[in-house]
Amino acid sequence: MQILKRLSRQSFSNKSFSRWTFRRLRLHSCLIFFLLLSGCAEAGEINTSKSNITSPTAPSASITAHYTTSSPTPPATLTALPTLTLTPCPTATWTIIGPGVVRAPILLYHHVLPDPTSTSYAIDARLFKDQMDFLYQHGYHTITLAQLREAIMHGNRLPFNPIIITFDDGNLDNYEYAFPCMQRYGFTGTEYIVANRLKSDGFLSISQLQEMAAAGWEIGSHSMTHANPTQVSPSQLRIELLDSRLRLEKELGIEIRTFAYPFGSYIPELARKAEKYGYFTAVGLGKGVSHGSNMIYYLERIEIPGTISIKDFKALLDGNSTP
Ligand SMILES: [Zn+2]
Repeated sequence: MQILKRLSRQSFSNKSFSRWTFRRLRLHSCLIFFLLLSGCAEAGEINTSKSNITSPTAPSASITAHYTTSSPTPPATLTALPTLTLTPCPTATWTIIGPGVVRAPILLYHHVLPDPTSTSYAIDARLFKDQMDFLYQHGYHTITLAQLREAIMHGNRLPFNPIIITFDDGNLDNYEYAFPCMQRYGFTGTEYIVANRLKSDGFLSISQLQEMAAAGWEIGSHSMTHANPTQVSPSQLRIELLDSRLRLEKELGIEIRTFAYPFGSYIPELARKAEKYGYFTAVGLGKGVSHGSNMIYYLERIEIPGTISIKDFKALLDGNSTP
């Protein structure tokens, strides 16, 4: 009987506890639900404000580095650039292009300067800005040599109107004028660096190149000493091609897989050497805007003159060699 009474008290106690617990749980659930709702609302507000400053680049998720295993993803800070003044925002349509011949103009610049004293290897920063504006307004989207090679050799997802913007010699003004200008349009470029100038005045520093690489730029070798590669001994050619690549990789901590022939000088043997010394692409000079697998080690680049009208610039992009 004592046991029955105890059980009865325990049962009553359990029931009362259960009701109390149920009320507490219901109250907690309401509180948690309310907190979740307010949290979602705040998250929604943050997302909306972020979308207002999103750069006009194609979705970064679609961009894949095909051989630059150390190539970092563009940082989130890129989205905070003042892109609101740009209109309209061309949306990139990404489609599989290749394998085979791929159309993608490759532009070549050297210096980008305000009021350059000579226009032989320099372009006025305002004219450069007008050209970037033209590319943006006409729906061009920048890609890397790595992405182009992948498309030619195996097929690759590329944006509509792909274009590659390259700079030779690693001049400091590229960081000061070209880099910020291109960032406003969501563009990236490729810098070809002369390895023994890496720590010299007037040229891009290691930290500047690393910053550009972190923003999606591709870094390539432009030889060790800027010697004409067709006029050096085999041992010096190895230094110009291989040692420059290894030194840049060591100093920058970035994989180097593309090479630009100094002066655009080329003989067929150089293609074999460039491949042997670890490059996946090499670029020279020309007027062509379409590239096939037979051109992987001499991809044609269009050198943009310092004085050129937008009309003639458009003609070059269209593959018209005599604008
Ligand atoms: Zn050069």
